[in-house]
Amino acid sequence: LVVLGIETSCDDTAAAVVRGNGEILSQVISSQADLLAQYGGVAPKQAEEAHARVIDKVVQDALDRANLTEKDLSAVAVTIGPGLSLCLRVGVRKARRVAGSFNLPIVGVHHMEAHALVGRLVEQDLSFPFMALLISGGHNIIVLAHKLGQYTQLGTTVDDAIGEAFDKTAKWLGLDLRRSGGPAVEELALEGDANSVKFNVPMKFHKDCNFSYAGLKTQVKLAIEAKEIDAKCPVSSATSEDRRNRADIAASFQRVAVLHLEEKCERAIDWALKLEPSIKHMVVSGGVASNQYVRVRLNNIIENKNLKLVCPPPSLCTDNGVMVAWTGLEHFRVGRYDPPPPETEPDDYMYDLRPRWPLGEEYAEGRSDAR
Ligand code: ATP
Ligand code: FE
Repeated sequence: LVVLGIETSCDDTAAAVVRGNGEILSQVISSQADLLAQYGGVAPKQAEEAHARVIDKVVQDALDRANLTEKDLSAVAVTIGPGLSLCLRVGVRKARRVAGSFNLPIVGVHHMEAHALVGRLVEQDLSFPFMALLISGGHNIIVLAHKLGQYTQLGTTVDDAIGEAFDKTAKWLGLDLRRSGGPAVEELALEGDANSVKFNVPMKFHKDCNFSYAGLKTQVKLAIEAKEIDAKCPVSSATSEDRRNRADIAASFQRVAVLHLEEKCERAIDWALKLEPSIKHMVVSGGVASNQYVRVRLNNIIENKNLKLVCPPPSLCTDNGVMVAWTGLEHFRVGRYDPPPPETEPDDYMYDLRPRWPLGEEYAEGRSDAR
């Protein structure tokens, strides 16, 4: 089996070709970093246009680098949600054109399921049931994966995701936004004292597995204002005292943001083991999982509970086509796919897009009113 995966749910246009045994034949990504810096975030219309400009080339490059043509493919997998519908549409249209022209089945993929299942590509003995903590720009969820396509959501964010908090912190600290905010904060935090600024750990007294990052964001903003940090002045031009203040805030923010993950993870593991005592692994994935400090801290918690942490390499934690191709493969194998679409479809064809699409059922004890 060989599957082409296409991903356009947010600001990265990605494609990859993966073999049934998990061999990655190619991986191509085109990111909209310049646009992000210009608009200070993802602007759907601009993002859609940027995807449309590069999608043909990204897919062609993925095939070329794999030394394959469309005729060699078994199926095409594409993210159909959750994400921005304008952006999702570009990937789905392309996937259906390729599938229609070459008579290939098509697999619609859940972006967050893909972030989780890529763990099974990097760790061959990772079998169901397992846990997954998915931490990215738009999501902060902890799930119990019972079997393929069947998930229980133990916790989610009640407001912002941790990646959003990293991105805003980066912006307010005047870090270079031509790369995403997370890595910039992580790098600056290395220079700072993580105990110097006192931030409160969110939801300290909630006995659930939910997350909240909006309050921490506000705390960071206030700390930045108190130190009179000017976001328009880049860190590279800051005085040494100013730079030190920024690094202290970055490090203190990162410590508390991750402490919140640690506390909720611990409780979620206890809950999950009651439901599925045979769990052995916890996957930590999504863009924020490429953070080294996050990895080390979560590894401690997870090992203490006698589980094994599976954290994909950074290139497979942030958005990528490999996870989509792999998730497509998993579903294709068990017969979950759509037949090849017609060779031509009208431009206004109503694609099955799922901009809001929860991953599994919410666990009753997980509701935020359980205190
Ligand atoms: P979602 O998966 O929720 O739809 P997304 O697809 O935009 O969101 P990803 O590409 O999975 O998100 O992750 C991007 C997020 O990860 C950004 O918020 C970015 O700042 C964050 N991130 C990336 N690298 C790091 C890092 N080293 N430290 C902290 N955060 C990071
Ligand atoms: Fe993502």
